[in-house]
Amino acid sequence: MYDLAVIGGGVVGGMILRELSKYQLKVCLLEKENDVAMGQSKANSGIAHAGFDAAAGSLKAKFNLLGSKMMPEVTRELGVKYENNGSLVVAFSDEELATLEILKQRGEQNGVEGLEIIDRERLRELEPNISKNALGALHAKTGGIVCPYELTIAAIGNAMDNGADLFCNFAVTKIEGGYPSYRIFAEDGQVVEAKAIINCAGLGSQKIANLVGDNSFTIGGRKGEYILLDHDPEFVHNTLFFTPTAKGKGILVSRTVDNNILLGPTAEEVEEDDRATTAVGQAAILKKAQEMCENLPLGTKVTGFTGVRAYCDRHDFILEESKAAKGFFHCAGIESPGLTSAPAIAKFVVEELVAKYFALEKNPTFNPIRTPDYFFKNLSFEEKNALIQKEPAYGRMICRCEMVTEGEILRAMRENPKATDVDGVKRRVRAGMGRCQGGFCQPLVMELLAKEFGLAPNEITKKGKGSELLVGKCK
Ligand SMILES: Cc1cc2nc3c(=O)[nH]c(=O)nc-3n(C[C@H](O)[C@H](O)[C@H](O)COP(=O)(O)OP(=O)(O)OC[C@H]3O[C@@H](n4cnc5c(N)ncnc54)[C@H](O)[C@@H]3O)c2cc1C
Repeated sequence: MYDLAVIGGGVVGGMILRELSKYQLKVCLLEKENDVAMGQSKANSGIAHAGFDAAAGSLKAKFNLLGSKMMPEVTRELGVKYENNGSLVVAFSDEELATLEILKQRGEQNGVEGLEIIDRERLRELEPNISKNALGALHAKTGGIVCPYELTIAAIGNAMDNGADLFCNFAVTKIEGGYPSYRIFAEDGQVVEAKAIINCAGLGSQKIANLVGDNSFTIGGRKGEYILLDHDPEFVHNTLFFTPTAKGKGILVSRTVDNNILLGPTAEEVEEDDRATTAVGQAAILKKAQEMCENLPLGTKVTGFTGVRAYCDRHDFILEESKAAKGFFHCAGIESPGLTSAPAIAKFVVEELVAKYFALEKNPTFNPIRTPDYFFKNLSFEEKNALIQKEPAYGRMICRCEMVTEGEILRAMRENPKATDVDGVKRRVRAGMGRCQGGFCQPLVMELLAKEFGLAPNEITKKGKGSELLVGKCK
Protein backbone atom coordinates (compact mmCIF):
# COMPACT_ATOMS: atom_id res chain seq x y z
CA MET A 1 0.00 0.00 0.00
CA TYR A 2 1.35 3.41 -1.00
CA ASP A 3 0.97 6.39 1.30
CA LEU A 4 0.10 8.59 -1.66
CA ALA A 5 -0.63 8.04 -5.35
CA VAL A 6 -0.29 11.01 -7.68
CA ILE A 7 -2.46 10.79 -10.82
CA GLY A 8 -0.93 12.56 -13.85
CA GLY A 9 2.68 12.77 -14.97
CA GLY A 10 2.79 16.42 -16.02
CA VAL A 11 4.95 19.13 -14.47
CA VAL A 12 2.57 19.55 -11.51
CA GLY A 13 2.34 15.82 -10.71
CA GLY A 14 6.09 15.51 -11.31
CA MET A 15 7.05 18.37 -9.01
CA ILE A 16 4.69 17.04 -6.31
CA LEU A 17 6.18 13.55 -6.61
CA ARG A 18 9.66 15.03 -6.15
CA GLU A 19 8.54 17.10 -3.17
CA LEU A 20 6.97 13.99 -1.57
CA SER A 21 10.21 12.03 -2.10
CA LYS A 22 11.95 14.47 0.26
CA TYR A 23 10.04 12.74 3.08
CA GLN A 24 9.75 9.20 4.41
CA LEU A 25 6.64 8.40 2.38
CA LYS A 26 5.92 5.54 -0.01
CA VAL A 27 4.69 7.28 -3.15
CA CYS A 28 3.88 6.55 -6.77
CA LEU A 29 2.79 8.33 -9.92
CA LEU A 30 0.14 6.96 -12.31
CA GLU A 31 0.23 8.15 -15.92
CA LYS A 32 -2.09 7.01 -18.69
CA GLU A 33 0.40 7.46 -21.53
CA ASN A 34 3.53 5.47 -22.41
CA ASP A 35 5.73 8.23 -20.98
CA VAL A 36 5.53 11.26 -18.72
CA ALA A 37 5.18 14.90 -19.94
CA MET A 38 2.59 13.97 -22.54
CA GLY A 39 -0.11 16.55 -21.77
CA GLN A 40 0.05 20.33 -21.39
CA SER A 41 3.58 20.00 -20.02
CA LYS A 42 4.79 18.74 -23.41
CA ALA A 43 3.55 21.55 -25.64
CA ASN A 44 3.53 25.05 -24.20
CA SER A 45 5.46 28.31 -24.49
CA GLY A 46 8.07 27.42 -21.87
CA ILE A 47 7.96 30.84 -20.25
CA ALA A 48 8.78 31.25 -16.57
CA HIS A 49 6.40 34.18 -16.23
CA ALA A 50 7.44 37.12 -14.06
CA GLY A 51 3.95 37.34 -12.49
CA PHE A 52 2.39 40.65 -13.60
CA ASP A 53 -0.45 39.05 -15.53
CA ALA A 54 -2.62 37.21 -13.01
CA ALA A 55 -5.34 39.05 -11.06
CA ALA A 56 -4.09 40.33 -7.69
CA GLY A 57 -5.13 38.06 -4.84
CA SER A 58 -5.59 34.97 -7.06
CA LEU A 59 -3.81 31.67 -6.50
CA LYS A 60 -2.32 32.13 -9.95
CA ALA A 61 -0.69 35.41 -8.86
CA LYS A 62 0.58 33.92 -5.58
CA PHE A 63 2.10 30.74 -7.02
CA ASN A 64 3.42 32.44 -10.17
CA LEU A 65 5.56 34.80 -8.10
CA LEU A 66 6.76 32.07 -5.75
CA GLY A 67 7.46 29.67 -8.63
CA SER A 68 9.34 32.28 -10.62
CA LYS A 69 11.60 32.88 -7.61
CA MET A 70 12.17 29.12 -7.11
CA MET A 71 12.86 28.32 -10.77
CA PRO A 72 16.62 29.15 -10.92
CA GLU A 73 17.40 26.88 -7.92
CA VAL A 74 15.09 24.02 -8.97
CA THR A 75 16.43 23.94 -12.52
CA ARG A 76 20.02 24.07 -11.25
CA GLU A 77 19.39 21.08 -8.98
CA LEU A 78 17.66 19.13 -11.74
CA GLY A 79 20.20 19.96 -14.45
CA VAL A 80 17.51 21.59 -16.59
CA LYS A 81 18.14 24.52 -18.92
CA TYR A 82 16.68 27.81 -17.62
CA GLU A 83 17.52 31.35 -18.61
CA ASN A 84 16.51 34.62 -17.03
CA ASN A 85 16.13 36.35 -20.43
CA GLY A 86 13.42 38.86 -19.42
CA SER A 87 10.02 39.61 -20.94
CA LEU A 88 8.72 42.60 -22.89
CA VAL A 89 5.03 43.45 -23.27
CA VAL A 90 5.04 45.60 -26.38
CA ALA A 91 2.61 48.46 -27.05
CA PHE A 92 1.60 49.57 -30.55
CA SER A 93 -0.84 52.41 -29.69
CA ASP A 94 -1.39 55.08 -27.03
CA GLU A 95 -4.20 52.95 -25.62
CA GLU A 96 -1.82 50.02 -25.24
CA LEU A 97 0.79 52.27 -23.61
CA ALA A 98 -1.86 53.12 -21.00
CA THR A 99 -2.54 49.39 -20.48
CA LEU A 100 1.18 48.87 -19.74
CA GLU A 101 0.81 51.19 -16.74
CA ILE A 102 -2.07 49.04 -15.44
CA LEU A 103 -0.02 45.87 -15.96
CA LYS A 104 2.94 47.42 -14.12
CA GLN A 105 0.73 48.38 -11.18
CA ARG A 106 -0.81 44.91 -11.09
CA GLY A 107 2.63 43.32 -11.21
CA GLU A 108 3.85 45.49 -8.35
CA GLN A 109 0.75 44.59 -6.35
CA ASN A 110 1.58 40.92 -7.01
CA GLY A 111 5.10 41.51 -5.67
CA VAL A 112 7.03 41.41 -8.97
CA GLU A 113 10.31 43.30 -8.70
CA GLY A 114 12.13 45.40 -11.29
CA LEU A 115 9.22 46.22 -13.61
CA GLU A 116 9.99 49.16 -15.88
CA ILE A 117 8.24 50.91 -18.75
CA ILE A 118 10.72 51.60 -21.52
CA ASP A 119 10.47 53.86 -24.58
CA ARG A 120 10.83 52.87 -28.21
CA GLU A 121 14.56 53.73 -28.39
CA ARG A 122 15.41 51.49 -25.41
CA LEU A 123 13.12 48.78 -26.81
CA ARG A 124 15.00 48.87 -30.11
CA GLU A 125 18.33 48.69 -28.26
CA LEU A 126 17.13 45.53 -26.50
CA GLU A 127 15.44 44.04 -29.56
CA PRO A 128 16.87 45.31 -32.86
CA ASN A 129 14.34 43.26 -34.86
CA ILE A 130 11.27 44.75 -33.19
CA SER A 131 8.71 46.32 -35.54
CA LYS A 132 9.14 50.04 -36.28
CA ASN A 133 5.49 50.44 -35.20
CA ALA A 134 6.29 49.48 -31.59
CA LEU A 135 5.99 52.50 -29.26
CA GLY A 136 7.29 51.14 -25.96
CA ALA A 137 7.13 48.17 -23.63
CA LEU A 138 6.82 46.90 -20.09
CA HIS A 139 10.15 45.27 -19.27
CA ALA A 140 9.88 42.43 -16.74
CA LYS A 141 13.47 41.59 -15.94
CA THR A 142 12.59 38.53 -13.83
CA GLY A 143 10.88 36.71 -16.73
CA GLY A 144 12.61 33.56 -17.91
CA ILE A 145 12.52 30.58 -20.25
CA VAL A 146 12.68 26.87 -19.40
CA CYS A 147 12.08 23.62 -21.29
CA PRO A 148 8.77 22.28 -19.91
CA TYR A 149 9.15 18.59 -20.76
CA GLU A 150 12.79 18.54 -19.65
CA LEU A 151 11.71 19.95 -16.29
CA THR A 152 8.89 17.39 -15.94
CA ILE A 153 11.09 14.42 -16.86
CA ALA A 154 13.90 15.58 -14.57
CA ALA A 155 11.56 16.12 -11.60
CA ILE A 156 10.05 12.65 -11.99
CA GLY A 157 13.46 11.08 -12.58
CA ASN A 158 14.84 12.71 -9.45
CA ALA A 159 11.83 11.55 -7.43
CA MET A 160 12.37 8.00 -8.72
CA ASP A 161 16.08 8.18 -7.87
CA ASN A 162 14.89 9.01 -4.36
CA GLY A 163 12.51 6.05 -4.10
CA ALA A 164 9.25 6.99 -5.86
CA ASP A 165 7.59 4.53 -8.29
CA LEU A 166 6.21 5.32 -11.74
CA PHE A 167 3.42 3.39 -13.52
CA CYS A 168 3.01 4.40 -17.18
CA ASN A 169 0.15 3.07 -19.36
CA PHE A 170 -2.02 3.36 -16.24
CA ALA A 171 -5.19 5.16 -17.34
CA VAL A 172 -7.23 5.59 -14.15
CA THR A 173 -10.87 4.68 -14.80
CA LYS A 174 -12.23 3.68 -11.37
CA ILE A 175 -11.52 4.55 -7.73
CA GLU A 176 -12.97 2.59 -4.81
CA GLY A 177 -12.74 2.96 -1.04
CA GLY A 178 -11.61 6.04 0.81
CA TYR A 179 -8.90 7.36 3.11
CA PRO A 180 -6.84 5.48 4.34
CA SER A 181 -7.50 2.72 1.84
CA TYR A 182 -8.15 3.74 -1.76
CA ARG A 183 -8.11 1.23 -4.62
CA ILE A 184 -7.25 2.80 -7.97
CA PHE A 185 -8.06 0.83 -11.12
CA ALA A 186 -6.59 1.25 -14.58
CA GLU A 187 -8.46 0.66 -17.83
CA ASP A 188 -6.55 -2.62 -18.37
CA GLY A 189 -7.31 -4.04 -14.90
CA GLN A 190 -4.12 -3.01 -13.03
CA VAL A 191 -4.77 -1.94 -9.42
CA VAL A 192 -2.78 0.31 -7.10
CA GLU A 193 -3.66 0.83 -3.44
CA ALA A 194 -2.92 4.08 -1.63
CA LYS A 195 -3.95 5.79 1.58
CA ALA A 196 -4.41 9.16 -0.18
CA ILE A 197 -4.60 10.49 -3.74
CA ILE A 198 -3.47 13.68 -5.48
CA ASN A 199 -5.35 14.48 -8.69
CA CYS A 200 -2.98 16.19 -11.17
CA ALA A 201 -4.59 14.86 -14.34
CA GLY A 202 -4.73 18.13 -16.32
CA LEU A 203 -7.42 17.82 -18.99
CA GLY A 204 -8.54 14.59 -17.28
CA SER A 205 -8.81 16.08 -13.78
CA GLN A 206 -12.59 16.62 -13.90
CA LYS A 207 -13.10 12.96 -14.85
CA ILE A 208 -10.84 11.87 -11.97
CA ALA A 209 -12.81 14.09 -9.55
CA ASN A 210 -16.08 12.60 -10.83
CA LEU A 211 -14.76 9.10 -9.99
CA VAL A 212 -15.02 9.95 -6.27
CA GLY A 213 -18.38 11.72 -6.67
CA ASP A 214 -16.90 15.22 -6.80
CA ASN A 215 -18.63 17.43 -9.40
CA SER A 216 -17.39 20.75 -8.05
CA PHE A 217 -15.62 22.00 -11.20
CA THR A 218 -15.55 21.56 -14.96
CA ILE A 219 -12.51 21.45 -17.24
CA GLY A 220 -12.55 22.40 -20.92
CA GLY A 221 -9.89 22.33 -23.63
CA ARG A 222 -8.49 25.42 -25.37
CA LYS A 223 -5.94 24.63 -28.00
CA GLY A 224 -2.91 26.70 -28.91
CA GLU A 225 -0.95 26.19 -32.11
CA TYR A 226 2.74 27.07 -32.49
CA ILE A 227 5.39 27.46 -35.15
CA LEU A 228 8.98 26.50 -34.34
CA LEU A 229 11.82 28.03 -36.34
CA ASP A 230 15.41 26.80 -36.44
CA HIS A 231 18.20 27.84 -34.07
CA ASP A 232 18.96 31.56 -34.04
CA PRO A 233 20.35 32.76 -30.71
CA GLU A 234 20.49 36.42 -31.81
CA PHE A 235 17.13 37.16 -33.44
CA VAL A 236 15.15 37.75 -30.25
CA HIS A 237 16.51 38.06 -26.70
CA ASN A 238 13.56 38.75 -24.39
CA THR A 239 10.19 37.04 -24.72
CA LEU A 240 7.97 39.42 -26.71
CA PHE A 241 4.27 39.62 -25.79
CA PHE A 242 1.55 41.76 -27.35
CA THR A 243 -0.28 44.00 -24.89
CA PRO A 244 -3.30 42.00 -23.70
CA THR A 245 -6.73 43.10 -24.88
CA ALA A 246 -10.26 42.01 -23.93
CA LYS A 247 -9.74 39.17 -26.45
CA GLY A 248 -6.73 37.78 -24.57
CA LYS A 249 -2.94 37.81 -24.53
CA GLY A 250 -2.33 37.03 -28.19
CA ILE A 251 0.74 35.27 -29.46
CA LEU A 252 4.36 35.66 -28.35
CA VAL A 253 7.69 35.65 -30.12
CA SER A 254 10.40 34.03 -28.03
CA ARG A 255 13.68 32.23 -28.05
CA THR A 256 13.61 28.78 -26.46
CA VAL A 257 16.34 27.58 -24.09
CA ASP A 258 17.65 25.55 -27.03
CA ASN A 259 17.88 28.75 -29.13
CA ASN A 260 15.00 28.02 -31.50
CA ILE A 261 12.53 30.81 -32.27
CA LEU A 262 9.01 30.02 -31.02
CA LEU A 263 5.87 31.74 -32.36
CA GLY A 264 2.37 31.23 -30.92
CA PRO A 265 0.08 30.11 -29.35
CA THR A 266 -3.36 30.66 -30.88
CA ALA A 267 -6.42 30.16 -28.66
CA GLU A 268 -9.37 28.05 -29.79
CA GLU A 269 -11.94 26.17 -27.68
CA VAL A 270 -12.03 22.46 -28.48
CA GLU A 271 -14.36 19.68 -27.39
CA GLU A 272 -11.72 16.99 -26.89
CA ASP A 273 -7.93 16.83 -26.77
CA ASP A 274 -7.65 18.08 -30.40
CA ARG A 275 -3.95 18.58 -31.18
CA ALA A 276 -4.21 19.11 -34.93
CA THR A 277 -2.33 22.02 -36.48
CA THR A 278 -4.33 23.87 -39.13
CA ALA A 279 -3.51 26.06 -42.12
CA VAL A 280 -5.71 28.80 -40.61
CA GLY A 281 -3.95 28.65 -37.22
CA GLN A 282 -0.45 28.63 -38.72
CA ALA A 283 -1.28 31.56 -41.03
CA ALA A 284 -2.71 33.57 -38.12
CA ILE A 285 0.53 33.07 -36.15
CA LEU A 286 2.69 34.19 -39.08
CA LYS A 287 0.61 37.33 -39.58
CA LYS A 288 0.81 38.39 -35.94
CA ALA A 289 4.50 37.47 -35.54
CA GLN A 290 5.33 39.70 -38.49
CA GLU A 291 3.47 42.56 -36.85
CA MET A 292 5.78 42.11 -33.82
CA CYS A 293 9.13 41.66 -35.61
CA GLU A 294 10.81 42.55 -38.85
CA ASN A 295 12.97 40.12 -40.83
CA LEU A 296 11.56 36.99 -39.19
CA PRO A 297 13.51 34.06 -40.71
CA LEU A 298 10.34 32.23 -41.75
CA GLY A 299 12.20 30.07 -44.25
CA THR A 300 13.75 28.19 -41.33
CA LYS A 301 10.47 26.68 -40.09
CA VAL A 302 11.20 23.33 -38.44
CA THR A 303 7.68 22.29 -37.45
CA GLY A 304 4.27 23.31 -36.14
CA PHE A 305 2.65 21.80 -33.04
CA THR A 306 -0.30 22.22 -30.71
CA GLY A 307 -0.84 22.23 -26.95
CA VAL A 308 -4.25 22.07 -25.26
CA ARG A 309 -4.89 24.19 -22.16
CA ALA A 310 -7.04 22.65 -19.41
CA TYR A 311 -9.11 25.68 -18.44
CA CYS A 312 -11.47 25.65 -15.54
CA ASP A 313 -14.86 27.26 -14.82
CA ARG A 314 -13.43 28.69 -11.58
CA HIS A 315 -10.79 30.67 -13.55
CA ASP A 316 -8.11 30.01 -10.96
CA PHE A 317 -5.97 27.10 -9.77
CA ILE A 318 -7.88 24.54 -7.66
CA LEU A 319 -5.55 23.40 -4.90
CA GLU A 320 -7.69 21.84 -2.20
CA GLU A 321 -8.95 18.68 -0.56
CA SER A 322 -12.11 17.34 -2.18
CA LYS A 323 -15.27 17.95 -0.17
CA ALA A 324 -16.57 14.59 -1.44
CA ALA A 325 -13.59 12.40 -0.50
CA LYS A 326 -11.25 12.58 2.49
CA GLY A 327 -7.52 12.43 1.74
CA PHE A 328 -8.19 13.21 -1.94
CA PHE A 329 -6.50 16.40 -3.13
CA HIS A 330 -7.09 18.37 -6.35
CA CYS A 331 -4.47 20.20 -8.36
CA ALA A 332 -6.83 21.09 -11.19
CA GLY A 333 -7.44 24.00 -13.54
CA ILE A 334 -3.69 24.48 -13.72
CA GLU A 335 -3.55 26.56 -16.85
CA SER A 336 -0.88 29.21 -17.52
CA PRO A 337 1.18 30.12 -15.45
CA GLY A 338 1.12 26.52 -14.25
CA LEU A 339 4.57 25.63 -15.54
CA THR A 340 6.11 28.57 -13.68
CA SER A 341 4.04 27.88 -10.58
CA ALA A 342 4.66 24.11 -10.39
CA PRO A 343 7.57 24.12 -7.89
CA ALA A 344 5.62 26.40 -5.54
CA ILE A 345 2.36 24.45 -5.97
CA ALA A 346 4.24 21.26 -5.05
CA LYS A 347 5.61 22.78 -1.85
CA PHE A 348 2.17 24.07 -0.86
CA VAL A 349 0.38 20.80 -1.59
CA VAL A 350 2.84 18.74 0.44
CA GLU A 351 3.44 21.15 3.33
CA GLU A 352 -0.14 22.41 3.71
CA LEU A 353 -2.46 19.67 2.42
CA VAL A 354 -0.60 16.35 2.68
CA ALA A 355 0.84 17.37 6.06
CA LYS A 356 -2.68 17.24 7.57
CA TYR A 357 -2.68 13.47 7.08
CA PHE A 358 0.99 12.40 7.16
CA ALA A 359 3.90 13.21 9.45
CA LEU A 360 6.51 14.78 7.21
CA GLU A 361 9.72 13.15 8.38
CA LYS A 362 12.71 14.02 6.21
CA ASN A 363 14.10 11.33 3.89
CA PRO A 364 17.71 11.21 5.15
CA THR A 365 19.05 9.98 1.80
CA PHE A 366 17.23 12.50 -0.42
CA ASN A 367 19.57 13.83 -3.12
CA PRO A 368 18.19 16.86 -5.00
CA ILE A 369 20.80 16.71 -7.78
CA ARG A 370 20.27 15.18 -11.24
CA THR A 371 22.78 15.35 -14.07
CA PRO A 372 21.44 16.68 -17.39
CA ASP A 373 20.37 14.24 -20.12
CA TYR A 374 21.67 16.29 -23.02
CA PHE A 375 25.11 17.79 -22.65
CA PHE A 376 27.79 16.49 -25.05
CA LYS A 377 27.42 19.36 -27.53
CA ASN A 378 28.25 21.89 -24.80
CA LEU A 379 31.46 20.24 -23.56
CA SER A 380 34.90 21.62 -24.45
CA PHE A 381 37.01 19.77 -27.04
CA GLU A 382 39.17 18.31 -24.27
CA GLU A 383 36.16 17.18 -22.23
CA LYS A 384 34.59 15.54 -25.29
CA ASN A 385 37.81 13.70 -26.04
CA ALA A 386 38.19 12.45 -22.47
CA LEU A 387 34.58 11.21 -22.40
CA ILE A 388 34.95 9.37 -25.71
CA GLN A 389 38.13 7.68 -24.44
CA LYS A 390 36.17 6.45 -21.42
CA GLU A 391 32.89 5.66 -23.20
CA PRO A 392 33.22 5.28 -26.99
CA ALA A 393 29.44 5.59 -27.49
CA TYR A 394 29.87 9.36 -27.01
CA GLY A 395 32.01 9.32 -30.17
CA ARG A 396 29.08 8.20 -32.37
CA MET A 397 26.91 11.09 -33.54
CA ILE A 398 23.31 9.93 -34.00
CA CYS A 399 21.38 13.19 -34.53
CA ARG A 400 23.39 15.55 -36.70
CA CYS A 401 20.94 18.46 -36.52
CA GLU A 402 21.00 18.65 -32.71
CA MET A 403 24.42 16.99 -32.23
CA VAL A 404 23.24 14.11 -30.05
CA THR A 405 25.52 11.14 -29.41
CA GLU A 406 24.76 7.47 -28.88
CA GLY A 407 26.10 7.82 -25.32
CA GLU A 408 23.38 10.33 -24.45
CA ILE A 409 20.65 8.16 -25.99
CA LEU A 410 21.83 5.09 -24.06
CA ARG A 411 21.68 7.13 -20.88
CA ALA A 412 18.16 8.33 -21.68
CA MET A 413 17.06 4.70 -22.09
CA ARG A 414 18.64 3.63 -18.80
CA GLU A 415 18.11 6.38 -16.28
CA ASN A 416 14.84 7.32 -14.55
CA PRO A 417 12.29 7.66 -16.10
CA LYS A 418 13.49 5.45 -18.98
CA ALA A 419 12.83 6.53 -22.58
CA THR A 420 11.15 3.50 -24.18
CA ASP A 421 9.92 4.99 -27.46
CA VAL A 422 11.23 7.29 -30.18
CA ASP A 423 9.49 10.42 -28.89
CA GLY A 424 10.71 9.66 -25.37
CA VAL A 425 14.30 9.77 -26.63
CA LYS A 426 13.50 12.98 -28.52
CA ARG A 427 12.11 14.75 -25.45
CA ARG A 428 15.08 13.76 -23.29
CA VAL A 429 18.05 14.37 -25.58
CA ARG A 430 16.58 16.19 -28.63
CA ALA A 431 17.44 13.48 -31.18
CA GLY A 432 14.91 14.13 -33.97
CA MET A 433 14.03 17.60 -32.67
CA GLY A 434 16.05 19.44 -35.33
CA ARG A 435 15.71 20.61 -38.88
CA CYS A 436 15.31 17.16 -40.49
CA GLN A 437 12.78 16.09 -37.80
CA GLY A 438 14.30 12.62 -37.44
CA GLY A 439 14.67 11.91 -41.17
CA PHE A 440 18.27 10.88 -40.59
CA CYS A 441 18.39 9.69 -36.97
CA GLN A 442 15.02 7.99 -36.45
CA PRO A 443 16.09 4.57 -37.85
CA LEU A 444 19.26 4.76 -35.74
CA VAL A 445 17.29 5.59 -32.60
CA MET A 446 14.93 2.70 -33.39
CA GLU A 447 17.88 0.32 -33.67
CA LEU A 448 19.21 1.48 -30.30
CA LEU A 449 15.77 1.05 -28.66
CA ALA A 450 15.36 -2.43 -30.16
CA LYS A 451 18.79 -3.51 -28.92
CA GLU A 452 18.40 -2.00 -25.46
CA PHE A 453 14.97 -3.53 -24.76
CA GLY A 454 15.39 -6.76 -26.75
CA LEU A 455 12.54 -5.90 -29.14
CA ALA A 456 11.99 -6.57 -32.84
CA PRO A 457 12.18 -3.41 -34.99
CA ASN A 458 8.45 -3.57 -35.75
CA GLU A 459 7.69 -3.45 -32.02
CA ILE A 460 9.32 -0.01 -31.64
CA THR A 461 6.75 2.76 -31.26
CA LYS A 462 6.71 6.50 -31.72
CA LYS A 463 4.71 7.10 -28.52
CA GLY A 464 3.37 3.83 -27.13
CA LYS A 465 1.06 1.06 -28.26
CA GLY A 466 -0.71 1.73 -31.55
CA SER A 467 2.04 4.01 -32.91
CA GLU A 468 4.38 1.29 -34.26
CA LEU A 469 6.63 2.81 -36.90
CA LEU A 470 7.16 -0.27 -39.08
CA VAL A 471 4.37 -2.41 -40.45
CA GLY A 472 6.33 -5.28 -42.04
CA LYS A 473 9.10 -6.24 -44.46
CA CYS A 474 8.92 -4.83 -47.97
CA LYS A 475 11.22 -7.45 -49.55
C1 LIG B 1 -0.57 26.31 -25.24
C2 LIG B 1 -0.10 26.44 -23.81
C3 LIG B 1 0.84 27.39 -23.46
C4 LIG B 1 1.26 27.52 -22.14
N1 LIG B 1 2.30 28.36 -21.84
C5 LIG B 1 2.75 28.42 -20.56
C6 LIG B 1 3.89 29.22 -20.24
O1 LIG B 1 4.54 29.78 -21.11
N2 LIG B 1 4.24 29.32 -18.93
C7 LIG B 1 3.56 28.70 -17.94
O2 LIG B 1 3.91 28.89 -16.79
N3 LIG B 1 2.52 27.89 -18.23
C8 LIG B 1 2.13 27.72 -19.51
N4 LIG B 1 1.10 26.90 -19.82
C9 LIG B 1 0.44 26.17 -18.75
C10 LIG B 1 1.20 24.91 -18.38
O3 LIG B 1 1.60 24.20 -19.52
C11 LIG B 1 0.32 24.03 -17.51
O4 LIG B 1 -0.19 24.81 -16.46
C12 LIG B 1 1.05 22.85 -16.92
O5 LIG B 1 1.76 22.16 -17.92
C13 LIG B 1 0.03 21.95 -16.25
O6 LIG B 1 0.67 20.79 -15.82
P1 LIG B 1 -0.19 19.60 -15.24
O7 LIG B 1 0.79 18.65 -14.69
O8 LIG B 1 -1.25 20.12 -14.36
O9 LIG B 1 -0.98 19.00 -16.49
P2 LIG B 1 -0.48 18.09 -17.70
O10 LIG B 1 0.88 18.42 -18.14
O11 LIG B 1 -1.56 18.17 -18.73
O12 LIG B 1 -0.42 16.64 -17.09
C14 LIG B 1 -1.57 15.88 -16.80
C15 LIG B 1 -1.22 14.43 -17.02
O13 LIG B 1 -2.29 13.62 -16.56
C16 LIG B 1 -2.40 12.51 -17.42
N5 LIG B 1 -3.74 11.95 -17.27
C17 LIG B 1 -4.92 12.49 -17.67
N6 LIG B 1 -5.94 11.65 -17.37
C18 LIG B 1 -5.40 10.58 -16.75
C19 LIG B 1 -5.95 9.37 -16.21
N7 LIG B 1 -7.24 9.10 -16.26
N8 LIG B 1 -5.11 8.46 -15.65
C20 LIG B 1 -3.76 8.70 -15.60
N9 LIG B 1 -3.20 9.83 -16.12
C21 LIG B 1 -4.00 10.75 -16.67
C22 LIG B 1 -2.13 13.10 -18.79
O14 LIG B 1 -1.76 12.11 -19.74
C23 LIG B 1 -1.01 14.08 -18.49
O15 LIG B 1 0.26 13.51 -18.66
C24 LIG B 1 0.68 26.72 -21.14
C25 LIG B 1 -0.26 25.74 -21.49
C26 LIG B 1 -0.60 25.57 -22.83
C27 LIG B 1 -1.49 24.43 -23.21
